[in-house]
Amino acid sequence: MYYAVYMKIKFTANKTTNYYYWLQALSGWDNPNNDIEVSDDVLLRAIVSLRESLERAPNPRSVLSELYTSRITTSEALEIQQLVQPAEEYFDRIWALNKDILFTKQHDLQHVDFNAYDRTIQSIVQFLDAQFDTTKTYTTQLLINDKNSHAVGHALRNTNYTLVMPDVSNKETAQSNTLMTVMHEYIHHVEFSSKITRPILKNAYEKYIGNNIDSPAGHDWQSMFVEALVFSLASKRIGGLLRPLIYDKPSPSVEEMKPGFMRRVSRNDLTTYDVINWVALHIVVDIEEYLSKGKTFDQGIADKIGKTYKEFYLTLSR
Ligand SMILES: [Zn+2]
Repeated sequence: MYYAVYMKIKFTANKTTNYYYWLQALSGWDNPNNDIEVSDDVLLRAIVSLRESLERAPNPRSVLSELYTSRITTSEALEIQQLVQPAEEYFDRIWALNKDILFTKQHDLQHVDFNAYDRTIQSIVQFLDAQFDTTKTYTTQLLINDKNSHAVGHALRNTNYTLVMPDVSNKETAQSNTLMTVMHEYIHHVEFSSKITRPILKNAYEKYIGNNIDSPAGHDWQSMFVEALVFSLASKRIGGLLRPLIYDKPSPSVEEMKPGFMRRVSRNDLTTYDVINWVALHIVVDIEEYLSKGKTFDQGIADKIGKTYKEFYLTLSR
């Protein structure tokens, strides 16, 4: 039985969130080899304090979430807020240069008819057996992006927020790419609230990967398994289950995308994200079948993720 309980996504573009995001990127806190090159003392002090506080924090990502969402509850976040406040004026110029494009994107996104995705989202919630409330409002905070970069995003765990850098290029697909990223992050929240996905994916990991294959640099296997599942539902590269809705193209198939993938394999310019998408591509057809039968995510699909990773890293990639 289908109940029309519409998903709600709100879009914001605010300076403070952008300031914190900009500052943490400059600080390179999650990449200790990154040298900070800033000539101004006040700004340098803010960046160094932010980096030190995050390195000390037991859960730096959740401290950053507090700052991005302006819901400060821990002393660590409060301390950072006070330490970096004096340097906020250094961000004024960047904000002034970029805010109008963000407001335009916000306006465009607010006018998207998300009701069109509602039925699919409801079936994904069921498929993942997620304890997810589709009537709750999720907020997408828009961040400044470079003209030459793709749309990217992060779902902030344990919050109703996601961060999305919209595609601000002149590409014809820019709006669809941004929309796909918004939906990808939204689906991460759905997956976070599932009690079945992680243990099932862990079983598949133990069966097919275990200690046999090292994860690629900068990635861990747990997130690669979760990401393959989420990409199979929503991905800019392969489209996934949402491809017909967002790109107005048929469901993606392995046959369609294999030549392009193999060309990149032979040229040796494959990224780990390409590999994750490649794996995700293999399970789209299974997911469609499960959804049509009202079946829930299970070991069969997780094993296919494990098997496809194993096959890639032990044969295709060499
Ligand atoms: Zn993701």
